[in-house]
Amino acid sequence: MPDLQAIVDEIHEKLQPRLGEGKAADYIPQLAHVDPKKFGIAVIDVDGQTYKAGDADVPFSIQSVSKVFTLTLALGKHGETTWNRVGREPSGSAFNSIVQLEHEEGKPRNPFINAGAIAVSDLVLAGHTPREAIGEIVRFVRYLADDDTIAIDPEVAKSEHATGYRNFALANFMRSFNKLTHPVEHVLGVYFHHCALAMTCTQLARSGLFLAASGRNPLTGHTVVSRQRARRINALMLTCGHYDGSGDFAYRVGLPGKSGVGGGILAVAPGKASVAVWSPGLNNHGNSLLGSLALEMLAHRTGWSVFGP
Ligand code: GLN
Repeated sequence: MPDLQAIVDEIHEKLQPRLGEGKAADYIPQLAHVDPKKFGIAVIDVDGQTYKAGDADVPFSIQSVSKVFTLTLALGKHGETTWNRVGREPSGSAFNSIVQLEHEEGKPRNPFINAGAIAVSDLVLAGHTPREAIGEIVRFVRYLADDDTIAIDPEVAKSEHATGYRNFALANFMRSFNKLTHPVEHVLGVYFHHCALAMTCTQLARSGLFLAASGRNPLTGHTVVSRQRARRINALMLTCGHYDGSGDFAYRVGLPGKSGVGGGILAVAPGKASVAVWSPGLNNHGNSLLGSLALEMLAHRTGWSVFGP
């Protein structure tokens, strides 16, 4: 095993002069007001050892990274029928794009673009009130991270709702094709709340550890999903986790990853480790600029890649 503490320290050190690069999301005040120079990284290996640097224990808005957890929940509830509602192909368009939905009659390309995650929220809602569904998601993430302090930031959820015109457009569009089974208000209530989960890099890396360890969380001993399902979620993260920047991320980093507009990225090195990085400045695809760079450096230094030794 490489000296992971030395590597994360070195990445943190090397990125110091570049902190603040990229453009932080400013569509809601809670994201616009975050210090753009924040940077955190946490690596947890499959033996449960944690290595961290920078602001690894400062909570941030995980935004679309949460789509990995809601997909995992939906697959647990609905199994393969989930794929009747959402596809598994990269979209090649922006995270909040509406254009493909018309051609594809309201069936979103994949679960990680907004439209797809909204369809997944509809699946998670089955048999629940919105409040219960949101509670289920929070309990699931707490169980994954083995940390009961994880919570939703209610102010972020409120702002998402107040500014979510495009998400309302996507949801109404899907509803018009009968592709949502619950009222738009309820589905988006669930969606906005899971996007508003606040977590630290350490908590996020813990929550993703089951994906690095064949579906079983080595910290708790809980089997979260089967080995095959863990592989499949990783495959979707690799092909779709960075929107229209997924190809570039695969090329540069070579690991499955899921980004969020809060500047967080969860990446998975199967059989090795779960990694979370956070830096608010985004590139032009809406993915963390320095977060991607940090993961590229980590992959380079460790030799981790799903494409070869
Ligand atoms: N809440 C954000 C939105 O729906 C999530 C987008 C993201 O993180 N890419 O616009």
